[in-house]
Amino acid sequence: MIKAAFMGRNGTLHNMPKAGLLNLADFHILPDTIPALNILGMNGYMLNIVTNEKGPQPGGHDYLNLVHQIENWIRDMVYRPIFFRYCHHHHAKKCDCRLPKTGLIKALQKEHDIDLSESIMFATSVQEIKAAEDAGIGNIIRINTGKADWKDSDLPLYNSLIDAVKELMNG
Ligand SMILES: [Zn+2]
Repeated sequence: MIKAAFMGRNGTLHNMPKAGLLNLADFHILPDTIPALNILGMNGYMLNIVTNEKGPQPGGHDYLNLVHQIENWIRDMVYRPIFFRYCHHHHAKKCDCRLPKTGLIKALQKEHDIDLSESIMFATSVQEIKAAEDAGIGNIIRINTGKADWKDSDLPLYNSLIDAVKELMNG
C-alpha cells in the first residue's frame, strides 16, 4: 500500500479569478505550490487533485479542454505522476462522486491501493473535510483561503500548501 496526498485545485493550487477561468492565461498558480507538490512526492506521497468541476460552458466555451491544459501545465512541473479526478455532475444528479461524497477518493484508493489512514487531505472547504473524514483519511489539514466557513473545526490550519508541507515533512 502507498500513502497519498489529496487536495482540491481552487484555493490550494490557485485562486479562481473573479471573472472565472476562461483560458490558460487566467490560471496563476499560487507561490511555492509546485515545490510543495514536489516535496510531497519526494516524501513518498502519491499526488491527487480531487474536485467538483463544471462541465462544458454555454456559448461553446470548452471548459474541459482548459481543465486538461491546466493539468498538463502542472504535470510538466511535477517530478512524480499527479492524478486529477473530477465530478462533472450537476449537484441535482445525486452522484456518489461530488464532494463531500467520497467517490473520487475511494476510486483512487482502489486503483492505487492507497492506505488512506496514512494519507493527507489538504482541505480548503468543509466539503473536502467531510469527504476526507468519511473516506477515512488519517490526516486532515486546513489551508486558509479566507473564504471557508469552518469556524467549528480545530483541525490544523496553515496559510498555504507550502507552509503545511514544510511543517509536516520536517515534523
Ligand atoms: Zn459526480
